Amino acid sequence: MCGIIGYNGKQNAIPIIINGLKNLEYRGYDSAGIAYFYKDKIKIIKEKGRISELEKLLDNSESNIAIGHTRWATHGEPSRRNSHPHKVGNVTIVHNGIIENYATLKEKLEQVGYKFQSETDTEVAAAVIDYENKKEKDKLKVLEKIESILKGSYALLIIFQDEPNTIYALREGSPLIVAMNNDGNFIASDIPAILDYTKDYYLLEEKEIAVVKMDNIKFFKEGKEIQKELLTFKYDTSSAKKDGYPYFMLKEIYEQPKVIKNFLDYYLNNMELIPDIGKYHKIHIVACGSAYHAGLIGNYLLEEYGDVEVTTYVASEYRYKKNFLDSKTLVILISQSGETADTIASLRLAKEMRSKTLGIVNVLGSTIAREADEVIFINAGCEIAVATTKAYTLQVLTLSLIAFKLGLKKGITKEDKDELLKDYKNLPEEIEKMLELNYKPYAKKIAKKKNVFFIGRLIDYYISLEGSLKLKEISYIHSETYPAGELKHGTISLIEEGTPVVAIITDKKIASKTISNIKEVKARGAYTLVIKRKEIEVSNDIYDDLIEVENLSDLILSILTIIPLQLLAYHTADTLGYDIDKPRNLAKSVTVE
Ligand code: GLU
Repeated sequence: MCGIIGYNGKQNAIPIIINGLKNLEYRGYDSAGIAYFYKDKIKIIKEKGRISELEKLLDNSESNIAIGHTRWATHGEPSRRNSHPHKVGNVTIVHNGIIENYATLKEKLEQVGYKFQSETDTEVAAAVIDYENKKEKDKLKVLEKIESILKGSYALLIIFQDEPNTIYALREGSPLIVAMNNDGNFIASDIPAILDYTKDYYLLEEKEIAVVKMDNIKFFKEGKEIQKELLTFKYDTSSAKKDGYPYFMLKEIYEQPKVIKNFLDYYLNNMELIPDIGKYHKIHIVACGSAYHAGLIGNYLLEEYGDVEVTTYVASEYRYKKNFLDSKTLVILISQSGETADTIASLRLAKEMRSKTLGIVNVLGSTIAREADEVIFINAGCEIAVATTKAYTLQVLTLSLIAFKLGLKKGITKEDKDELLKDYKNLPEEIEKMLELNYKPYAKKIAKKKNVFFIGRLIDYYISLEGSLKLKEISYIHSETYPAGELKHGTISLIEEGTPVVAIITDKKIASKTISNIKEVKARGAYTLVIKRKEIEVSNDIYDDLIEVENLSDLILSILTIIPLQLLAYHTADTLGYDIDKPRNLAKSVTVE
């Protein structure tokens, strides 16, 4: 989950590593560290906290070869001692992921005399490499052996004290790219780390080893050198820069009209690229976090418009239960990064059971993109803020188009189709209008509170789940989401004078029921912020504040309705003065299970 970057080239590696780490800081920021060769000796500098803390410790040393890391702790608290790089004997490494069998390995290594300074699994991996290197001098052979010893997920950069001109890289589960420009070569966990220097890169695949020297890169697989295809990052690189916005999250919220317009222009003119899922008997949607919430909306839309039964699961549980998978089942996997560990595991399970798989991902070349039978790229551009916004809305939009395509076969009439197409076309402009509203006054009220409730029914409940998650992620205010009708079965006991309740009413068929539920909380003193479809009429005694969304079709409206909730979360966190792009304990791209 962390960020990794290595450089071997003619330039001074240290500022390149620091700059790369800053561009990757969204991936992990418990601590940071760098290792570089200085006068043929490895020097390691690391510190708890942000990259800026690490920078304070740097002197003016220069080096042509260095590796760096931002950590998202899994084994051992965030501290200088547990920070990467870790050095054991001849070996210094940075690591992304988890070594699952580290405890057994550690025990064995302790028996042969190794002593450990940290609580991390990473230091154990370094010791395993050192131990094996003592027996076998050929580094490639050592690393091949390592692949069979280490269990779990890892991306590793390795430098050896006795080979001061080379960086070795290998991966299992966690991504790595290898890139180059005229002056040197780079290895990184993610593209933003290298975009200031180059757009050309290779994608390191599982079981491959990269050997990176100053003037050449070689790849090996199963002991043999292999040739790899050079790729070019095609997106506008400005998507990885803040462009004057105080936070990436705000920039990404405001990018939504543009990315949604591009997506719709492309897919509405190429509907044959949207898979026809009518032939499957059973459809499962599997995802984590916000992608799971997008899945719940997709589930509802596929059932309502596509007239097909769908079930949505959280990926971390999917493969531990009975799923009755067969060749007539379609499993839809949703993941922004395409590297979400639990979602990848679910994909592999589905394939093992001979079910068909469809990935909805943002990152080209990611594991899910490569392994799923079919893939739809949402083309959101780089999403840097940990709290997803534009990728989430594009995931919902993708599912909406799949439901639309299926619906065309299942009863959407010509008139309905024209209306829906009009709504799709109007969506970017309607989002622009929602972006112009001022949400700060509501955010200021919510920022004073310790608990918030979100309520809605059916699709409005699924939208609420995402709104509530956004608020929790970045403002640290406790917030719960309830299907509005469920409140009185228990949770209403928590409503007291001034408790904020955000209520969503966009679904006409169930609006009157939700309105009754809002009255119930209002009667108990709640502050209510109601977000409703314009044409649904409500009396002004049910809300303290009101936000209205345009009367678009249910197939599309959820994408508009999430905008006020994203901005409510953003401004609440901003009012409280938090670092919005780097919420505590979270990291982008969850590559551990
Ligand atoms: N498991 C390692 C640790 O806890 C690496 C975590 C990461 O991916 O940042 O140090």
